[in-house]
Amino acid sequence: MNVLAKDKFDTLRIHAGYKPENHQFASSVPIYQTAAFGLSNTEVANEIVQGKHPDRFDYTRDGNPTSHVLEERIAAIEGGIEAVSVGSGMSAISFTIFNVAEGGGRIIAPTNIYGSSLDEFRNFFPKFGINFDFVDDVNDFDKIKSLIQDDTKAIYVESVANPSTEIADIETLAKIAHDAGIPLIVDNTFPTPYLLRPFEFGADIVVYSSTKGINGHGNTLSGLIVDHGKFNWASGKFPQFTEEEFTLGDEESDDHESFYSKFGAAAFIKRIRVKYVRLLGSVLSPIDSYFVLLGLETISERLDKEVASATKIAEFLRDNEHVERVYYSGIEKDNSLVAKYFSKGVGSILSFELKGNEKNIAKLIDNVHVFSYLPNIGDAKSLIVNPSRTTHREIPAGIRTKHALNNQVIRLSIGLEDIDDLIGDLRNGFEKAFD
Ligand SMILES: *Cc1c(COP(=O)(O)O)cnc(C)c1O
Repeated sequence: MNVLAKDKFDTLRIHAGYKPENHQFASSVPIYQTAAFGLSNTEVANEIVQGKHPDRFDYTRDGNPTSHVLEERIAAIEGGIEAVSVGSGMSAISFTIFNVAEGGGRIIAPTNIYGSSLDEFRNFFPKFGINFDFVDDVNDFDKIKSLIQDDTKAIYVESVANPSTEIADIETLAKIAHDAGIPLIVDNTFPTPYLLRPFEFGADIVVYSSTKGINGHGNTLSGLIVDHGKFNWASGKFPQFTEEEFTLGDEESDDHESFYSKFGAAAFIKRIRVKYVRLLGSVLSPIDSYFVLLGLETISERLDKEVASATKIAEFLRDNEHVERVYYSGIEKDNSLVAKYFSKGVGSILSFELKGNEKNIAKLIDNVHVFSYLPNIGDAKSLIVNPSRTTHREIPAGIRTKHALNNQVIRLSIGLEDIDDLIGDLRNGFEKAFD
């Protein structure tokens, strides 16, 4: 089975990056549960560490065959030059921000993003000399342009915001970034590459919490970083890619290299692997890579069903007397960004504001039985959560209330159960919440 880049998504998600003939013809990608790999003999060892045997591995922190299949597969379905797998979505985000703004600089980001991301951007990265300029509206292009300064290193957005499902106009944001000589970084966790591939609209780096919809079964944490391979890192704004790097050269032959001179278009993603994963750790373990690969095989069918059910549930909620407002771009008929970016739907996550007070919220959550009350999304099981008290509690109320996140908001992640049971569960929950 030789998969070609021209193959379509549904073929690539099952076959890309894997050649069974190199693995005893195993049908399922083997789990290489090992810390290290034999080096054969001293001569071969020398060649392996110099990167002359791309099919050989030495130590799982530097690379592992199971994780390698996942990385190749994601790069193929995303249309990127290379991908790196890491231990969690937060590692993917952290390593990407450090790699682009190492040594200090500014990054522009919206305030309506994942709770831990906003906490890290507001309160943690500044301790490393990386400061953020925030916008409340991700598509306020004039404001974003006005915030770009000499030391601005990137624009960072979520393609679909958590949990308001507001859509970022990636094509316009990529143009603004490129005009300023900086990359656009997109957290594409909500839609997954099945519903949206940001590179097609000019994004430069895509990050994922593959804990969510890519894996789809809520059984392991994982993160992915994918590089489009189109951004010019040699402009002078990013010296970390052009400065000489001892470990890339060869002392004996007096060979000097930088990430850019050695890897060209892949400088960014190679630097993530060689510096951040290798030196800071946070490696995705082989068995977890296997779980992600397994989940990925059914992503299209899962997402199609979840989007259909999420749409029906959003419509049910919109027409419910106890619901103040539904947040799901998928049912906004006049939303031009849905038409432009999401022909297959905006995803399985929606939220809504319940009328009443926090007692009604508690009663609703405590009286649903098909929905599980837990802080995750993108699972085959349907999930319910009160974000202001759980997933988004790191965000100050002043910012939360601007983004559909007051204490009356409930987030749902729609799984694969029967749609009648899901709606029946919510209907029963509403009755109990307001009796
Ligand atoms: C969950 C999530 C993350 C963090 O991912 P982990 O795998 O939990 O570290 C980042 N961004 C978004 C949009 C998320 O939903």
